[in-house]
Amino acid sequence: MITVNARATFSPEGPFKLTEIERRELQPHDVLIEIKYAGICHSDIHTARGEWGPVQYPLVPGHEIAGIVAQVGAAVTKHAVGDRVGVGCMVDSCGECPNCHKGEEQYCLNGMTGTYGATDKYGHYTQGGYSTHIVVTEEFVVRIPDSLPLDAAAPLLCAGITTYSPLRHWGAAPGKRVAVVGLGGLGHMAVKLAHAMGAEVTVLSQSLKKKKTA
Ligand SMILES: [Zn+2]
Ligand SMILES: [Zn+2]
Repeated sequence: MITVNARATFSPEGPFKLTEIERRELQPHDVLIEIKYAGICHSDIHTARGEWGPVQYPLVPGHEIAGIVAQVGAAVTKHAVGDRVGVGCMVDSCGECPNCHKGEEQYCLNGMTGTYGATDKYGHYTQGGYSTHIVVTEEFVVRIPDSLPLDAAAPLLCAGITTYSPLRHWGAAPGKRVAVVGLGGLGHMAVKLAHAMGAEVTVLSQSLKKKKTA
């Protein structure tokens, strides 16, 4: 096992404390990532507080991970040492069911493996990005373009894809109108993405306080 530093919470009420966690030794298709940034998603807070059901503590949240490849397994072809990469909210799936074959691993019929708070196929409890390093199979590691700063890229791995996916699904484009409910962490990304896709974008909000920002 590889011992790495992390920030974990030890109870639903608990503050985060520095601790050490274990990552698995690199398997042939694994990538070791030196984490440079991890976004704080509200799901992290819900999970850390046990608001979405029982949690095994200590828990290291973080599923908006951006960093640099530090080491690769013997059979890795998609990534190389030094690559700028990211990891989102899944770190594995069966790879064999119809949904995995369609590239919709989030709907894996055998259950995808969450980046933290899940049991992976090795029987280990997964721990997330509030740590110095993570080991992830190469299929679930994405390349971050050189033009994108790593700190700005991290939130795209959850907040970004959450808004990008429905915009793509419903074909946001010139001539289309998009309404975004609320200009928060996800909402402001939806505005930027829908605008970049060429749609006419309207923000719906309870007051006009954020009009200028929108
Ligand atoms: Zn999230
Ligand atoms: Zn599957």
